[in-house]
Amino acid sequence: MRKRLTKNEKHQVLDILDELYPNARAELNFRNPFELLIATILSAQCTDVRVNKVTEEMFLELKVPMDYIDLGEEALENKIRSCGLSKSKSRNIIGACEKMLSKYDGRVPETIEELMELPGVGRKTANVVASNAFGIPAIAVDTHVFRVSNRIGLASSKNVEGTEKDLMKAIPRDRWTKAHHQMIFHGRRVCKARSPLCEDCLVSVLCLYYINGVGK
Ligand code: SF4
Repeated sequence: MRKRLTKNEKHQVLDILDELYPNARAELNFRNPFELLIATILSAQCTDVRVNKVTEEMFLELKVPMDYIDLGEEALENKIRSCGLSKSKSRNIIGACEKMLSKYDGRVPETIEELMELPGVGRKTANVVASNAFGIPAIAVDTHVFRVSNRIGLASSKNVEGTEKDLMKAIPRDRWTKAHHQMIFHGRRVCKARSPLCEDCLVSVLCLYYINGVGK
């Protein structure tokens, strides 16, 4: 049973993902860092499609942190109910808006550390916002990135923190953000959680999950 890919093989995997998904990008709709932050908080345990549906109208009405505070927790909860976990998401969004107003003049902070101080913003959300809104290289490990990278052998960890560390080592820094989106694309389209489409997967020649016959 093979346990590791070589550095060269990891780069080959990245090249295949580049070929497969040259235009991989965030699938949440947003026009500015503030909208991305709200959309990313809403996306916890919810699909991007659903979040986009909810935010399409909501972002026309609610544009700046004060709008959310004026609206209040209960009314916001009703607007975002279909995204799930609406009570805690509403509380966190309004808490984040209050903090941005009191500490950052109503702007979204630009570093991962500052972002993580906002209510409802963990490392994954902070990485998504920092990389997609501010161009800071980051690898947000969501369920797709975790599964795909550990199956292939780009990472070898049982937890999200270890996976992020492995990926930061395996992937050149200037490819972090793109590779993150490409793994999400691959996880949604081919390397699915329950039944990965290994026979149709161009990564299979290098993938440890496939080579070791884990899914057979
Ligand atoms: S070969 Fe299978 S497990 Fe490996 S990346 Fe492709 S779909 Fe995923």
